[in-house]
Amino acid sequence: MKYLLVFAVVFVAIWLWRKGRRDEMRERAESRRNTPKVGAPKDMARCAYCGVHLPATEALSGPGGVYCSAAHRQAAAQ
Ligand SMILES: [Zn+2]
Repeated sequence: MKYLLVFAVVFVAIWLWRKGRRDEMRERAESRRNTPKVGAPKDMARCAYCGVHLPATEALSGPGGVYCSAAHRQAAAQ
């Protein structure tokens, strides 16, 4: 009788584990379907000094526009 209880607990644990994995796999497949292969386009900025393109979030704004680095912002200011 004691072993039957242990068996039942193990069975339920395995069942829950498999169910969890199945949900996880379905979620992963859905997120893969919803996520585009290429990332969303980001706003690009062009360094006013060297002309390199970089994400606008990484650009440093200066007196003459945006710059790729503090060094170029400083060089453009001179
Ligand atoms: Zn630059």
